[in-house]
Order: sequence, then C-alpha cells, then structure tokens
Amino acid sequence: MLSDIIQKALCDQINLEFHAFYTYLAAAAYCEHRGFNGCAHWFRIQCQEETTHAMKLYDFMLARGCQVDLRAIPAPEATYSSIPQVFERALQQEQHVTASIDRLYELAYHEKAFAALVELQWFIKEQVEEEKSVRDILAKIELIKNDPSAMIDLDRELGGRTANSTSSVTAAG
Ligand code: MG
Repeated sequence: MLSDIIQKALCDQINLEFHAFYTYLAAAAYCEHRGFNGCAHWFRIQCQEETTHAMKLYDFMLARGCQVDLRAIPAPEATYSSIPQVFERALQQEQHVTASIDRLYELAYHEKAFAALVELQWFIKEQVEEEKSVRDILAKIELIKNDPSAMIDLDRELGGRTANSTSSVTAAG
C-alpha cells in the first residue's frame, strides 16, 4: 500500500493531467475557431495523450489497492492572442507538468515507494518527448515569422499527426 502522502500526490498529478487535457481542449477550440484545423487536430491528439497520462496513474493507484480521489478540474486559461501564443503556452504547460513529475519522483524516492518510482520513470521520459515536440513546433513558428503561406503549410503538417506519435513534426521535417 502506498503511503498517504504518495497517494495524495498521485491524485494531485491525476488532476494536473486532466487540467492539461482541458487546457489543450481549449487550445484546440481556439485554433479551430480561427480556421487552423491542423493545429486544432494536433491539440485534439494532445488531449487524448493527457487522458492516457491521467488514466495510467489512475490504473496504477487501483492496482496498488488505493482509493482514487478525483477532484474538480480547474477551468483552463483559454484567452489567447495568436496561434504562436497557443504553442508558447503549451510549452509552459508541459514544463509545469515536468516540474510536478520531478517533485513526485523525489517524494516517491524519499518514501521508498519503489513501484511508484518505476511507474514514474515512464512519465519522466514522456515529458522529455512532450517538451521536445512543442519546442520543435515553436522553432518552426520562429522561422515562419509572418509568412502566411508557410503558416498554412505548418498547419497542414500538424494536421497529419497520428494518435500514437508525439508529433508529426520532426527536427529534420
Ligand atoms: Mg501529461
């Protein structure tokens, strides 16, 4: 059985993953409302990933015989001023989640919660990918600046993202 402090921290992380889901759902709505359907598609896939993250921790807690304490999901901050800003905020979101996972790992280490440490290693690797995928998109946006046709091309590229790949955008692409 996991200690109370670890159980609470895992429930906090589940809530944070669902908050990320909600944030990306708002981002998808912003993009689609402005006709950037490829960007919207990318964020919809991101939503699916966040649900997977939350459910992975949910399943882990149940497998360890713990009660899952689900709480209210805070409303997303959904006021954006531009498409680039949506991705800038996505990177901030992922960096926030990375810091939270790192704290959770440190806590599990101190609590000698070895099964939780193994479970959280997956999340540590996942966060490296999550941050990289958004940074790759932001690097392209930086190159595009105010070139509308290049932005349309990027939107089309992001529209090709599939559910099991972190991003359709690669460093070389
Ligand atoms: Mg996540």
